Amino acid sequence: MNEKNINLSFEHMFSEMKEKYDYPIKGAKMTIQQNKALKVRNSVKVPLAKDRSANFVTFYGVEDQKDHVVLDFRKEKQNQEIIDVRIHSECLTGDIFGSSRCDCGEQLQEAIKKFDEVGGVLIYLRQEGRGIGLYNKLDAYALQLKGLDTYEANRHLGLGDDLRDYKIAAEMLKAMNIKKIRLLSNNPLKSSQLQEEGIEIVEKVSTGVFLKKENTHYLEAKVNHTKHSIDLAKYFAEAL
Ligand SMILES: [Zn+2]
Repeated sequence: MNEKNINLSFEHMFSEMKEKYDYPIKGAKMTIQQNKALKVRNSVKVPLAKDRSANFVTFYGVEDQKDHVVLDFRKEKQNQEIIDVRIHSECLTGDIFGSSRCDCGEQLQEAIKKFDEVGGVLIYLRQEGRGIGLYNKLDAYALQLKGLDTYEANRHLGLGDDLRDYKIAAEMLKAMNIKKIRLLSNNPLKSSQLQEEGIEIVEKVSTGVFLKKENTHYLEAKVNHTKHSIDLAKYFAEAL
């Protein structure tokens, strides 16, 4: 099959799926719109697996009505001026069920383990599938099984590359009186948006890379499309 035929068959499949399901309007804004300041609503200690615990922090004023939450692992005696922060976007398949299609579950567990040891703040945003939602993400997986990468599949579904918005994360930090952070992330979009919203990033710390047979294409797409700072060549070499 040549490239043209592949594209035609994708178009065909896409229009069939579009008829079958009710897709959101092309270019519809599904990101978190957050224009006003948040206030902390509650901070509740919850015991977690492996004898860990975190204070789950909730907020008043979340404009998209989603239950975004902070897991506050800060220790009483740590340096309270610069706080370690990870922003994690919800991924039901990876976080809960350990899907091998991505590395979200591993990244989440890495942050929980690290913050339990050294203190830190994990912002858990309910923006499933880069903001497109679970059903759309699963539709995109169906296209990926036909050979498209994450970003191409989203475009075929009429969705933006990455609809996530990290302004709300900045507002959550400000509500908790956190202004200086060390950010655990490989994603340049997160740090630039936080800085624009007045959060000072003292240092950026790369997250681990969790290469699996099934997520190689996903990680490659992350590097090629959104300039994630992952040295895949190094990990390939190590895996060999
Ligand atoms: Zn994921």
